[in-house]
Amino acid sequence: MLNWKRTILTTSSLCLFLCSTTLPVFAKPKPAPQRKPASTSTSIYEQAKKQLPEDFYALYRVVDRIARANELDNRPWRIMAVPKYDVNAFATDVNLIAVFDGILDQLAGDSSALACVVAHEMGHHVKRHLAVGAAQKAELIAKIEEEAKREVLGEQQAANEESTAAVVGGAVVNRVVGGTVGGLLGSILGNQGAQRQADSQKRINQIIEKKKQELEERLAMQERQQEHEADEIGYIASVKAGFDPDGCLRVMQVLSQIPGSESDSTHPAVPKRIEAIKALMIKYPPQTLAKEGEARISKTKPLTYNLSKDQASLRINSSRGGSQADDIDKKFGR
Ligand SMILES: [Zn+2]
Repeated sequence: MLNWKRTILTTSSLCLFLCSTTLPVFAKPKPAPQRKPASTSTSIYEQAKKQLPEDFYALYRVVDRIARANELDNRPWRIMAVPKYDVNAFATDVNLIAVFDGILDQLAGDSSALACVVAHEMGHHVKRHLAVGAAQKAELIAKIEEEAKREVLGEQQAANEESTAAVVGGAVVNRVVGGTVGGLLGSILGNQGAQRQADSQKRINQIIEKKKQELEERLAMQERQQEHEADEIGYIASVKAGFDPDGCLRVMQVLSQIPGSESDSTHPAVPKRIEAIKALMIKYPPQTLAKEGEARISKTKPLTYNLSKDQASLRINSSRGGSQADDIDKKFGR
Protein backbone atom coordinates (compact mmCIF):
# COMPACT_ATOMS: atom_id res chain seq x y z
CA MET A 1 0.00 0.00 0.00
CA LEU A 2 1.25 3.47 -0.83
CA ASN A 3 0.22 6.77 0.62
CA TRP A 4 -1.39 9.30 -1.65
CA LYS A 5 0.29 12.60 -1.25
CA ARG A 6 -1.65 15.84 -1.08
CA THR A 7 -0.50 18.20 -3.76
CA ILE A 8 -1.30 21.53 -5.29
CA LEU A 9 -1.12 22.23 -8.98
CA THR A 10 -0.47 25.76 -10.04
CA THR A 11 -0.38 25.30 -13.78
CA SER A 12 -3.17 26.66 -15.90
CA SER A 13 -5.90 24.33 -16.97
CA LEU A 14 -8.60 23.73 -19.53
CA CYS A 15 -11.94 23.03 -17.95
CA LEU A 16 -15.04 21.26 -19.05
CA PHE A 17 -16.83 24.35 -17.96
CA LEU A 18 -16.28 27.76 -16.31
CA CYS A 19 -12.98 27.78 -14.48
CA SER A 20 -10.43 29.96 -12.82
CA THR A 21 -6.91 29.94 -14.26
CA THR A 22 -5.41 28.30 -11.20
CA LEU A 23 -7.09 25.46 -9.46
CA PRO A 24 -5.95 23.90 -6.23
CA VAL A 25 -5.92 20.15 -6.56
CA PHE A 26 -5.92 17.78 -3.68
CA ALA A 27 -5.61 14.15 -4.50
CA LYS A 28 -7.60 11.85 -2.35
CA PRO A 29 -5.30 10.38 0.25
CA LYS A 30 -6.48 6.86 -0.32
CA PRO A 31 -4.53 3.67 -0.78
CA ALA A 32 -3.56 2.71 -4.27
CA PRO A 33 -2.34 -0.49 -5.85
CA GLN A 34 1.21 -1.67 -5.89
CA ARG A 35 0.76 -5.35 -6.55
CA LYS A 36 1.53 -6.45 -10.05
CA PRO A 37 -1.59 -6.50 -12.18
CA ALA A 38 -2.69 -9.97 -13.24
CA SER A 39 -2.31 -11.12 -16.81
CA THR A 40 -5.84 -11.69 -18.05
CA SER A 41 -8.37 -8.96 -18.62
CA THR A 42 -10.95 -10.37 -16.23
CA SER A 43 -8.50 -10.61 -13.42
CA ILE A 44 -7.02 -7.14 -14.02
CA TYR A 45 -10.46 -5.61 -13.80
CA GLU A 46 -11.44 -7.77 -10.84
CA GLN A 47 -8.27 -6.80 -9.08
CA ALA A 48 -8.80 -3.12 -9.89
CA LYS A 49 -12.28 -3.24 -8.47
CA LYS A 50 -10.95 -4.62 -5.23
CA GLN A 51 -7.96 -2.30 -4.99
CA LEU A 52 -9.22 1.05 -6.19
CA PRO A 53 -11.72 3.42 -4.63
CA GLU A 54 -14.95 3.17 -6.65
CA ASP A 55 -14.50 6.46 -8.55
CA PHE A 56 -10.95 5.53 -9.52
CA TYR A 57 -12.05 2.09 -10.64
CA ALA A 58 -14.67 3.67 -12.92
CA LEU A 59 -12.20 6.25 -14.24
CA TYR A 60 -9.60 3.55 -14.88
CA ARG A 61 -12.07 1.44 -16.88
CA VAL A 62 -13.22 4.50 -18.83
CA VAL A 63 -9.66 5.60 -19.72
CA ASP A 64 -8.68 2.01 -20.57
CA ARG A 65 -11.50 1.68 -23.11
CA ILE A 66 -11.16 5.17 -24.58
CA ALA A 67 -7.38 4.90 -24.95
CA ARG A 68 -7.50 1.48 -26.59
CA ALA A 69 -10.44 2.22 -28.90
CA ASN A 70 -8.91 5.48 -30.14
CA GLU A 71 -5.23 4.57 -30.41
CA LEU A 72 -4.46 6.83 -27.47
CA ASP A 73 -2.79 4.02 -25.53
CA ASN A 74 0.70 5.09 -26.63
CA ARG A 75 1.07 7.42 -23.63
CA PRO A 76 0.34 7.08 -19.93
CA TRP A 77 -2.70 8.96 -18.65
CA ARG A 78 -3.12 10.27 -15.15
CA ILE A 79 -6.34 10.60 -13.22
CA MET A 80 -6.91 12.75 -10.19
CA ALA A 81 -10.07 13.27 -8.17
CA VAL A 82 -10.58 16.66 -6.58
CA PRO A 83 -12.51 16.48 -3.30
CA LYS A 84 -14.51 19.62 -3.89
CA TYR A 85 -18.13 19.84 -4.92
CA ASP A 86 -17.69 21.52 -8.31
CA VAL A 87 -19.51 20.16 -11.31
CA ASN A 88 -16.41 20.30 -13.46
CA ALA A 89 -13.29 18.55 -14.73
CA PHE A 90 -10.12 19.80 -16.33
CA ALA A 91 -7.03 18.83 -18.29
CA THR A 92 -3.69 20.06 -17.02
CA ASP A 93 0.02 19.32 -16.80
CA VAL A 94 1.14 16.35 -18.92
CA ASN A 95 -1.70 13.94 -19.70
CA LEU A 96 -3.40 14.66 -16.39
CA ILE A 97 -7.16 14.67 -16.06
CA ALA A 98 -8.71 16.00 -12.89
CA VAL A 99 -12.32 15.34 -12.04
CA PHE A 100 -14.17 17.14 -9.26
CA ASP A 101 -16.39 15.31 -6.79
CA GLY A 102 -19.37 17.38 -7.91
CA ILE A 103 -19.38 16.01 -11.44
CA LEU A 104 -18.77 12.45 -10.24
CA ASP A 105 -21.76 12.89 -7.94
CA GLN A 106 -24.06 14.39 -10.55
CA LEU A 107 -23.16 11.74 -13.13
CA ALA A 108 -23.33 8.85 -10.64
CA GLY A 109 -24.50 5.64 -12.30
CA ASP A 110 -23.89 7.00 -15.79
CA SER A 111 -20.55 5.74 -17.05
CA SER A 112 -21.32 6.97 -20.59
CA ALA A 113 -21.64 10.56 -19.37
CA LEU A 114 -18.46 10.17 -17.33
CA ALA A 115 -16.72 8.74 -20.42
CA CYS A 116 -17.76 11.80 -22.42
CA VAL A 117 -16.26 14.10 -19.76
CA VAL A 118 -13.01 12.12 -19.65
CA ALA A 119 -12.77 11.94 -23.45
CA HIS A 120 -13.33 15.70 -23.64
CA GLU A 121 -10.36 16.29 -21.32
CA MET A 122 -8.23 13.74 -23.18
CA GLY A 123 -9.13 15.71 -26.31
CA HIS A 124 -7.58 18.87 -24.86
CA HIS A 125 -4.34 16.95 -24.32
CA VAL A 126 -4.38 15.23 -27.70
CA LYS A 127 -5.01 18.50 -29.55
CA ARG A 128 -2.37 20.20 -27.44
CA HIS A 129 -4.73 22.95 -26.43
CA LEU A 130 -2.93 25.42 -24.27
CA ALA A 131 -4.59 27.41 -21.58
CA VAL A 132 -3.08 30.86 -21.42
CA GLY A 133 -1.95 31.18 -17.84
CA ALA A 134 -1.62 34.29 -15.73
CA ALA A 135 2.11 34.61 -16.40
CA GLN A 136 1.69 34.37 -20.18
CA LYS A 137 -1.14 36.87 -20.05
CA ALA A 138 1.00 39.30 -18.06
CA GLU A 139 3.68 38.97 -20.74
CA LEU A 140 1.19 39.70 -23.51
CA ILE A 141 -0.09 42.74 -21.61
CA ALA A 142 3.44 44.04 -21.10
CA LYS A 143 3.93 43.74 -24.84
CA ILE A 144 0.72 45.66 -25.44
CA GLU A 145 1.91 48.44 -23.12
CA GLU A 146 5.19 48.63 -24.95
CA GLU A 147 3.41 48.78 -28.31
CA ALA A 148 1.08 51.53 -27.11
CA LYS A 149 4.03 53.65 -25.99
CA ARG A 150 5.76 52.97 -29.27
CA GLU A 151 2.65 54.00 -31.20
CA VAL A 152 2.24 57.30 -29.33
CA LEU A 153 5.94 57.98 -29.50
CA GLY A 154 5.77 57.38 -33.24
CA GLU A 155 3.03 59.99 -33.52
CA GLN A 156 4.98 62.39 -31.36
CA GLN A 157 8.01 61.70 -33.41
CA ALA A 158 6.21 62.58 -36.64
CA ALA A 159 4.84 65.77 -35.09
CA ASN A 160 8.18 66.72 -33.63
CA GLU A 161 10.26 65.96 -36.64
CA GLU A 162 9.71 69.26 -38.41
CA SER A 163 10.29 71.52 -35.44
CA THR A 164 12.85 69.55 -33.46
CA ALA A 165 14.49 67.44 -36.10
CA ALA A 166 17.88 68.53 -35.00
CA VAL A 167 17.24 67.46 -31.39
CA VAL A 168 15.31 64.19 -31.54
CA GLY A 169 15.66 63.19 -35.16
CA GLY A 170 17.34 60.07 -36.48
CA ALA A 171 18.93 58.99 -33.22
CA VAL A 172 15.60 58.51 -31.50
CA VAL A 173 14.03 56.74 -34.44
CA ASN A 174 16.89 54.31 -34.49
CA ARG A 175 16.64 53.68 -30.81
CA VAL A 176 12.85 53.25 -30.97
CA VAL A 177 13.15 50.81 -33.82
CA GLY A 178 15.83 49.08 -31.82
CA GLY A 179 13.23 48.35 -29.18
CA THR A 180 14.28 50.42 -26.16
CA VAL A 181 11.18 52.50 -26.02
CA GLY A 182 10.36 52.34 -22.31
CA GLY A 183 12.91 54.76 -20.95
CA LEU A 184 12.52 57.12 -23.87
CA LEU A 185 8.97 58.03 -23.05
CA GLY A 186 9.99 60.28 -20.19
CA SER A 187 12.75 61.97 -22.16
CA ILE A 188 10.64 62.67 -25.20
CA LEU A 189 7.60 63.69 -23.22
CA GLY A 190 9.91 65.66 -21.03
CA ASN A 191 10.50 67.98 -23.98
CA GLN A 192 6.82 68.81 -24.07
CA GLY A 193 4.63 70.92 -21.90
CA ALA A 194 2.75 69.35 -18.98
CA GLN A 195 -0.51 69.37 -20.92
CA ARG A 196 1.00 67.53 -23.83
CA GLN A 197 2.51 64.97 -21.48
CA ALA A 198 -0.88 64.36 -19.89
CA ASP A 199 -2.48 64.04 -23.32
CA SER A 200 0.12 61.55 -24.45
CA GLN A 201 -0.28 59.46 -21.32
CA LYS A 202 -4.06 59.49 -21.75
CA ARG A 203 -3.70 58.37 -25.33
CA ILE A 204 -1.31 55.58 -24.30
CA ASN A 205 -3.80 54.40 -21.68
CA GLN A 206 -6.62 54.41 -24.19
CA ILE A 207 -4.62 52.30 -26.62
CA ILE A 208 -3.66 49.88 -23.84
CA GLU A 209 -7.28 49.47 -22.74
CA LYS A 210 -8.47 48.86 -26.29
CA LYS A 211 -5.73 46.34 -27.02
CA LYS A 212 -6.28 44.55 -23.72
CA GLN A 213 -9.94 44.18 -24.54
CA GLU A 214 -9.08 42.83 -27.98
CA LEU A 215 -6.68 40.36 -26.38
CA GLU A 216 -9.36 39.13 -23.96
CA GLU A 217 -11.78 38.66 -26.84
CA ARG A 218 -9.21 36.83 -28.92
CA LEU A 219 -8.32 34.49 -26.07
CA ALA A 220 -11.97 33.82 -25.26
CA MET A 221 -12.67 33.04 -28.92
CA GLN A 222 -9.72 30.67 -29.03
CA GLU A 223 -10.95 28.94 -25.87
CA ARG A 224 -14.47 28.56 -27.25
CA GLN A 225 -13.07 27.01 -30.40
CA GLN A 226 -10.94 24.63 -28.34
CA GLU A 227 -14.00 23.63 -26.33
CA HIS A 228 -15.88 22.76 -29.50
CA GLU A 229 -12.95 20.62 -30.63
CA ALA A 230 -12.79 18.90 -27.24
CA ASP A 231 -16.55 18.28 -27.34
CA GLU A 232 -16.13 16.65 -30.74
CA ILE A 233 -13.42 14.35 -29.41
CA GLY A 234 -15.54 13.75 -26.29
CA TYR A 235 -18.33 12.41 -28.45
CA ILE A 236 -16.27 10.47 -31.01
CA ALA A 237 -13.80 8.91 -28.56
CA SER A 238 -16.38 7.87 -25.96
CA VAL A 239 -18.70 6.37 -28.57
CA LYS A 240 -15.80 4.52 -30.22
CA ALA A 241 -15.06 3.12 -26.77
CA GLY A 242 -18.55 1.64 -26.75
CA PHE A 243 -20.31 4.15 -24.52
CA ASP A 244 -23.82 5.44 -25.10
CA PRO A 245 -23.83 8.44 -27.53
CA ASP A 246 -26.45 10.23 -25.43
CA GLY A 247 -23.92 10.37 -22.56
CA CYS A 248 -22.55 13.67 -23.92
CA LEU A 249 -26.04 15.16 -24.07
CA ARG A 250 -26.64 14.16 -20.46
CA VAL A 251 -23.42 15.94 -19.46
CA MET A 252 -24.67 19.09 -21.19
CA GLN A 253 -27.98 18.75 -19.40
CA VAL A 254 -26.14 18.87 -16.07
CA LEU A 255 -23.92 21.78 -17.16
CA SER A 256 -26.93 23.81 -18.27
CA GLN A 257 -28.21 23.81 -14.70
CA ILE A 258 -25.13 25.50 -13.28
CA PRO A 259 -25.74 29.12 -12.33
CA GLY A 260 -23.74 31.52 -14.50
CA SER A 261 -23.55 29.11 -17.43
CA GLU A 262 -25.11 31.71 -19.77
CA SER A 263 -22.47 34.33 -19.11
CA ASP A 264 -19.37 32.17 -19.54
CA SER A 265 -17.34 33.85 -22.28
CA THR A 266 -14.68 31.16 -22.53
CA HIS A 267 -17.05 28.29 -23.34
CA PRO A 268 -19.72 28.11 -26.03
CA ALA A 269 -23.25 28.40 -24.68
CA VAL A 270 -24.63 25.01 -23.62
CA PRO A 271 -27.49 25.04 -26.19
CA LYS A 272 -24.86 25.57 -28.91
CA ARG A 273 -22.80 22.70 -27.56
CA ILE A 274 -25.90 20.47 -27.56
CA GLU A 275 -26.67 21.46 -31.13
CA ALA A 276 -23.10 20.68 -32.19
CA ILE A 277 -23.20 17.25 -30.51
CA LYS A 278 -26.46 16.41 -32.26
CA ALA A 279 -24.87 17.38 -35.57
CA LEU A 280 -21.92 15.11 -34.79
CA MET A 281 -24.31 12.20 -34.17
CA ILE A 282 -25.48 12.56 -37.77
CA LYS A 283 -22.02 13.17 -39.22
CA TYR A 284 -20.47 10.25 -37.33
CA PRO A 285 -23.15 7.59 -36.76
CA PRO A 286 -22.68 5.95 -33.35
CA GLN A 287 -22.85 2.41 -34.73
CA THR A 288 -20.01 3.01 -37.17
CA LEU A 289 -17.84 4.54 -34.46
CA ALA A 290 -18.58 1.74 -32.01
CA LYS A 291 -17.65 -0.87 -34.60
CA GLU A 292 -14.34 0.81 -35.36
CA GLY A 293 -13.52 1.10 -31.69
CA GLU A 294 -14.46 -2.48 -30.91
CA ALA A 295 -12.14 -3.75 -33.64
CA ARG A 296 -9.25 -1.84 -32.06
CA ILE A 297 -10.11 -2.91 -28.51
CA SER A 298 -10.23 -6.57 -29.52
CA LYS A 299 -6.67 -6.31 -30.85
CA THR A 300 -5.28 -4.78 -27.67
CA LYS A 301 -4.78 -5.86 -24.09
CA PRO A 302 -6.21 -4.12 -21.00
CA LEU A 303 -3.94 -1.36 -19.78
CA THR A 304 -2.28 -1.75 -16.43
CA TYR A 305 -2.18 0.91 -13.75
CA ASN A 306 0.02 2.20 -10.95
CA LEU A 307 0.23 5.06 -8.56
CA SER A 308 2.01 7.90 -10.39
CA LYS A 309 5.58 8.70 -9.31
CA ASP A 310 4.47 11.83 -7.47
CA GLN A 311 1.93 9.65 -5.66
CA ALA A 312 -0.79 12.13 -6.41
CA SER A 313 -2.69 10.42 -9.19
CA LEU A 314 -3.58 7.08 -10.68
CA ARG A 315 -1.39 6.42 -13.69
CA ILE A 316 -3.00 4.35 -16.39
CA ASN A 317 -0.08 2.94 -18.27
CA SER A 318 0.50 3.02 -22.00
CA SER A 319 0.35 -0.23 -23.93
CA ARG A 320 4.06 -0.62 -23.10
CA GLY A 321 3.15 -1.15 -19.46
CA GLY A 322 4.36 0.69 -16.39
CA SER A 323 7.63 -1.01 -15.50
CA GLN A 324 11.09 -0.30 -16.93
CA ALA A 325 12.40 -3.49 -15.27
CA ASP A 326 9.74 -5.68 -16.89
CA ASP A 327 10.41 -4.09 -20.26
CA ILE A 328 14.16 -4.80 -20.03
CA ASP A 329 13.49 -8.39 -18.96
CA LYS A 330 11.06 -8.84 -21.83
CA LYS A 331 13.57 -7.50 -24.34
CA PHE A 332 16.74 -9.20 -23.16
CA GLY A 333 15.71 -11.88 -20.67
CA ARG A 334 17.06 -12.08 -17.16
ZN1 LIG B 1 -12.87 21.73 -22.14
